[in-house]
Amino acid sequence: MSDQKEIVLLKCGELVLKGQNRSTFEDAMMKNARRRLEGLGKFHIWKSQSTVYVEPATDVEMDRVVERLQTVFGVVALCPARVVAKDWQAICAAAPDYLARDLAGAKTFKVNAKRSDKRFPMDSPAICRELGGLLLSRFPHLRVDVNQPEVTVTVEVREKDAYIHKNQLPGAGGIPVGTGGKAALLLSGGIDSPVAGYMMAKRGLELIAVHFASPPYTSERARQKVVALAEKLLPYTGRIRLFVVPFTQLQEQLRDKGPEEYFTLLMRRAMMRVAEQIAIREGCQGLITGESVGQVASQTIQALGVTDCVTTLPVLRPAIGMDKSEIVAIARKIDTFETSILPYEDCCTVFTPRHPRTRPKAEEVARIEAEMALDPALLDEAAQEAELTVLTLRGMENR
Ligand code: ATP
Ligand code: MG
Repeated sequence: MSDQKEIVLLKCGELVLKGQNRSTFEDAMMKNARRRLEGLGKFHIWKSQSTVYVEPATDVEMDRVVERLQTVFGVVALCPARVVAKDWQAICAAAPDYLARDLAGAKTFKVNAKRSDKRFPMDSPAICRELGGLLLSRFPHLRVDVNQPEVTVTVEVREKDAYIHKNQLPGAGGIPVGTGGKAALLLSGGIDSPVAGYMMAKRGLELIAVHFASPPYTSERARQKVVALAEKLLPYTGRIRLFVVPFTQLQEQLRDKGPEEYFTLLMRRAMMRVAEQIAIREGCQGLITGESVGQVASQTIQALGVTDCVTTLPVLRPAIGMDKSEIVAIARKIDTFETSILPYEDCCTVFTPRHPRTRPKAEEVARIEAEMALDPALLDEAAQEAELTVLTLRGMENR
């Protein structure tokens, strides 16, 4: 066995999960990690005592492996580690070399030891003491700080091998995508909805995306922007089925037949109904929007009530209590912000009423809809004619 072999340890999150749940959670996380690493090489991935081990079976670029694994939900922390023979001399030879860069740049460190193989001749305190002494003699500028060390060196002696761990790196947190069911994200070209999608994927939901396009009022570039936004979510979500709904006819009818101040509400109810049809057809259990109370006229609590009541699916709005600046911070983190602010018209910004109703009543809006007597087939057609694009990381990375 080579002394140069490096692996990555993944620490699972949500410690409250127990028994069968925990194992479902870990299995899903491993499956997602495996998918995420596709194209980088071959890996053995296994778990033991709440830690998942990712071991390259071929030559790989470790930095890229770590970077990819940092987008896998369900991983709270990652830790690169060197695999060494279960032999004290081998551990002492490998540790200073493997940790050289980290230790050279630090002032303080400590050594932790875990020994699950009790046949190993040294106990944990002895490992800490001896390796600590060795590292101090090699890096004389260092000081031991057991409370807040800059570098924590962990030596783990297991059944087959020993591992020397570097410092932990932050993982994506959350719950593995797919363990929480599936929902349809109403994805506009704005800042909020991609963030909402990311937040719900983080809570374990698999996503499909539904976008409403109204050509010629909205352009092909606006549509491309939405594709680009969905692609930005792929590292977190895995593949996304994106449905682009032809919305022009419905919007024109609503503009022509409904009272102007109700236009946005009528349009949002139509969106919900079409999205619900697609969601149910695709096996989703809920809808997701990027709405936040008070952000615009259509996002008062009364207006949200009027849009909610047209669907029986739960409407998840993870940004509901967030300030724009908080949403923007996440948009920057997931790298959707720069795309979101490209200035293309969204269907929500065409035919905008001058004086939108901000405190509508559901009965009133239902009465207006009844009077307009739109052909319900228009909604069905929009849902059926939605154009599907399947976005995958493979597709994106091959470009
Ligand atoms: P965003 O930044 O997400 O566009 P916003 O503050 O601009 O949000 P609105 O335009 O009022 O908000 O839309 C509210 C929500 O409705 C969006 O977050 C999104 O979930 C959904 N939505 C708006 N326009 C569209 C669209 N063209 N296609 C799909 N969903 C949309
Ligand atoms: Mg918008």
